[in-house]
Amino acid sequence: MKKGAADNIKAGTGIYRHREWRGFRDTAYDYAKWAQLWGILFSWALRNPVQNVKALFRYRWMFSYLTAPAFFDRLCAGQRGAGLRASRCNLNHMAESITETLTTIFSADLHLHPGSPKAEKLNRKIICFDELLPALIGKGFPDCDTVLLQMYPMFLPSLLDQHSPDHYISQCELYGLPSDVCSLPSFEAGLAIEDDYPKIGCCMLTSNMPCDSSIMTSMIQDRRIGLPTQQLNVPLRWKREDVQEYAVDEILSAIAFIEKHTGKKCDWEALKEACEIWNGQNLAKFEKWEMNRTEIPPHTGASVWLYRVFEHQVACGVRKALHNDHKVNSILKKQVAAGKSPKTIRHRAIIWSTPANNYPDFNNWLLDCWGIESVCEMFDIHGTGLIDTSTRETMLYGIADMIETSTMRAHTKGGYEVMLYDLWDKYQEYHADMIIMFDQISCKGVAAINGLFEEGAMRRGIPMCRVRHDLLDSTSVSRKEMRDDVNRFMQTVMNETPLDASLLQFEDDYGW
Ligand code: SF4
Repeated sequence: MKKGAADNIKAGTGIYRHREWRGFRDTAYDYAKWAQLWGILFSWALRNPVQNVKALFRYRWMFSYLTAPAFFDRLCAGQRGAGLRASRCNLNHMAESITETLTTIFSADLHLHPGSPKAEKLNRKIICFDELLPALIGKGFPDCDTVLLQMYPMFLPSLLDQHSPDHYISQCELYGLPSDVCSLPSFEAGLAIEDDYPKIGCCMLTSNMPCDSSIMTSMIQDRRIGLPTQQLNVPLRWKREDVQEYAVDEILSAIAFIEKHTGKKCDWEALKEACEIWNGQNLAKFEKWEMNRTEIPPHTGASVWLYRVFEHQVACGVRKALHNDHKVNSILKKQVAAGKSPKTIRHRAIIWSTPANNYPDFNNWLLDCWGIESVCEMFDIHGTGLIDTSTRETMLYGIADMIETSTMRAHTKGGYEVMLYDLWDKYQEYHADMIIMFDQISCKGVAAINGLFEEGAMRRGIPMCRVRHDLLDSTSVSRKEMRDDVNRFMQTVMNETPLDASLLQFEDDYGW
C-alpha cells in the first residue's frame, strides 16, 4: 500500500519520524533553513546563557519555546517550491525578532534580577503594550523598546505547544473565575495568578477589547502587573466618520502618557518614518493578496496569517521586516509567472473567523488531505488602509485606522455587517468554491451571528463547513475533532475522496 504523510507521524505525538522528502532541491532548501533556525536559537541561547537558563526554570511557558523547530516543521508540512521558501523566510525572520525581544525582556526582568540597578535602568526604557495593540506608536520613542507583554508568555507559546495553555487555564478556573470564557484571556489571567509575567517596563498601555473574557482578565492583570497603566480606547463602531476624532484624541493622550513615564518627547519624524515603512509592508501585502487571487495561489497557511499578525502587531514600521517582505514577494512572483503549482488544488476556500492557536498547521492538513487551498483567511486581512504622512494630523488619522483594523478588531468589531458582508465579498474576489467557517465556541460575539452566516451561505448556495475549536484550549476541542468536522463534511456534503487517506485519522493529542 502506498505510504501517506501520516505514516511519518509517531502515533499520539504528532512528531515526525524523519524529515519530509520533498524532492532534492526542496529538501535541501528546507534542511538549510532548518539549520539556520538552529543557528538563530543557539546564538541567542549562548549570548546570555545564565540568564536564559534562569528564565527557563522561572517560567513554565519558556519550555514551549524549546519546541520551536518542530513547530516550524509543522507549519511547512507538505510545502514545496515558492510556498516552502516563503514560509521558511517568514518563520526565520520571526525567530530572529522574537529571540531579540526575549533578550530585551530577560535582561530587564526583575524576577530574574531582583534589586539589580542595571535591570532597573533598562526598565526605564521599556514601554509595555497590550498584545492586541499594534506597537506603531512606540516607534515615536526610538530610544525605548516597546514590548507587547502578553505576546511572549501567552500568544506565541499557545501556538508552539498545544498544551502550554492547559496549566494556566486550570489555575484561572481554580481561582474561581468563569470557565465558559474564551481561552485567550483565561490564559492571560492564569499567567497573572501564577505571577508568570516578566516584571519589566516603566508603564503599560492597554486597550479595550469588548468581550466578557477580556473584561474579566484586565482587572486581574492590572493588579499583578502593577505598572502605571492607561487604556487606549479604540472606537468599536470604527467605520463611522464621527468617531475618528475621538480615536485620534485617544492616541494623543496615549503619547502624552508615554512621554510622562519615559521622560522622553515623542519624535514625530521617527514616527513618520515608521508609518512610511508600514505603508511599504502593506503594499507588499496587497501584492500577496493579488497573487492568491490567481489560479495558483503561491503562499497560504499559518506562515502567512501568523506572520501578518506578528507584522501588524509587533514588526509594524520595522525595516528588516519590510526587506523580508520584498524578498518573499520576489520568490512568489517567479512561481506565479511560471504558472505552475507544486500542489494539487481541488477547492479554493475562504477561511473565516478566528483560527485555532492549538492547531496552526490546520491549513497544511486541509491542503494535503483534501486539496483545499486556503486562498483567503480572515485573520490575514488587517489594516488595509495606507497612512497619509503628509501632515501630522493625517498621519494620526491613519494610525487610528491602523489600530482600529488590527488583530481581533478588524472584523469582530465595527458592527456585525463588517464580518458578514466582507465574507461574501472575499468569496467573490478570491474565486472561492467553499467556506471553512471556524466556530470558536467561546467567542460569544461571533456566536451571536452564526445564524446569519448559515442563512447567507444557504441563500447563495455556497458549501460552508463549520469547524469547532476553542482557540487555545485543546482539552475542549482537539485537533482530531477539528479534522473530523472537515472529514464528515467533505465525505457527505461534497461527496469527495481524500487526496491522502492516511491523513484522515491519526492521533496527535499528546503532541506539542
Ligand atoms: S476570540 Fe472572541 S472572545 Fe476571544 S479574545 Fe477574541 S474577541 Fe474576545
